[in-house]
Amino acid sequence: MEFSSLLYLFCLIASSTAHSITQSCGQNKNNIQKRSYEFISQFHETKLLIISLDGFHYQYLYRFQNELTFLKNSIAGHGVFAENGMLSTFPTQTFPCHWTMATGLYHESHGIVGNYFYDPYMNETYMMGSNKTKEEHWYSGEPVWSAAVRQGKRVGVIAWLGSDVDFKLQGRRNPTRVMPFDPKHKLGEKLTTAYNWMFGKEALDAVMVYHNNPDKAGHESGAASREVRDVLKEIDSDLRAFFQRLTLKNEQKAINVVIVSDHGMTNITHPHTFMSDHGLDIDKHAIFADGGGTILKIFPRDLSSEFELITHLTHISNVTASFILYRKSDIPSRWHFQRNARIPALVLVANEGHLIYKNRNWSEDISGEHGYDNNLESMKAFFTAVGPSFKSHQVMTKSFPQVSLFPLFCHLLNVTAPPNNGSLAVFEPFLRREHQDEKYDWKEHNARDALAAQKARSSGDSVSLSLLPMTFMVLVFLILVIF
Ligand SMILES: [Zn+2]
Repeated sequence: MEFSSLLYLFCLIASSTAHSITQSCGQNKNNIQKRSYEFISQFHETKLLIISLDGFHYQYLYRFQNELTFLKNSIAGHGVFAENGMLSTFPTQTFPCHWTMATGLYHESHGIVGNYFYDPYMNETYMMGSNKTKEEHWYSGEPVWSAAVRQGKRVGVIAWLGSDVDFKLQGRRNPTRVMPFDPKHKLGEKLTTAYNWMFGKEALDAVMVYHNNPDKAGHESGAASREVRDVLKEIDSDLRAFFQRLTLKNEQKAINVVIVSDHGMTNITHPHTFMSDHGLDIDKHAIFADGGGTILKIFPRDLSSEFELITHLTHISNVTASFILYRKSDIPSRWHFQRNARIPALVLVANEGHLIYKNRNWSEDISGEHGYDNNLESMKAFFTAVGPSFKSHQVMTKSFPQVSLFPLFCHLLNVTAPPNNGSLAVFEPFLRREHQDEKYDWKEHNARDALAAQKARSSGDSVSLSLLPMTFMVLVFLILVIF
């Protein structure tokens, strides 16, 4: 070993034990500083994969732990996991919640106030499954891919709401690459595409992936059904394959993976309520009323129609105990669901396990549903994240609002977040600071391994500490011998 190397080692050890000695190690302090800058530049090149699993209730991770071994042990157990779920935005429906995750705005601010709604100024309706969802003017807020592309990043979007909209207004930008929604696409295919976009020639900085399950299975067969279990097993296998592919070239050190859902799922436990069965023809009193489900939104024709509707609906609510009727001014402020012309004068919100329809034409034969009050345990969404920007083995014990995902995504992409309703503060305790040169090494393991590794690390720390004075003395001895 050369003398300069010995001296460097000496200074490194001495600097951690005695402040007075560090003053003589200026040259080597510069070296340390340089290494730290290199780490920061590596940090900024980290890629980001966001996966949204529609209708993944956060408790699925416990309920189906035998099917979700990889997600539970190697992702959630190794990175950051919200053990009490994420507070979805109200109404807990797919389109509004996905636009919230993309923009960081509440539904009243981004304007997608449901999967199906009416705009009284345009006299038009927006409906999931129609071409209306491809028209830019319905959408307020800047999606994360637009903010990133505008700031020089390259982002791919797979099947996420808004990916097939041509954004031009207010300086908004389109994704670098798009794979449109196709219900036949498996999660594995989407993850393969995401991998190729990020680690192939195009070298995209980030990809957002939407997947329509376990929501579909939850609707068809119920929240805790065998069908949900089978779908989750397949999802777990696709995630495992993706991470195994990353490890082949050690790419897991260069990517943050965030897995979320839009809302939870609950079983339908009561007979449907049809307003027409109680002698109320809502359409007769309304300019527009959607069909219903977990939410029924009514624009009354005029004030006298509104009073008539209130009288009838209050009676039906008392008889059936299946919903709560809100006048717009009485909607709870915690829902942030009031200040938008697309939110009508009367909003009916079904109680958990109920479905409410204006008439029998709108009835749906489903076993599970969402859209209810976001405070319900059953409506809470899923969150976990792993990668070099996150601390390891972290549990978030408090539910946090879904709007906060947006500032997190912008932070991970190293772009300035446009105005939004979220706050990065909820994630700060779980994020690594850029100057912390912590080693991140993802590997497949189970919970017992993780515990053993933790114990080994802590005992290793104590060993290295106890060896420190001895190492110091040996080095001093070596230097004395050389001279
Ligand atoms: Zn959904």
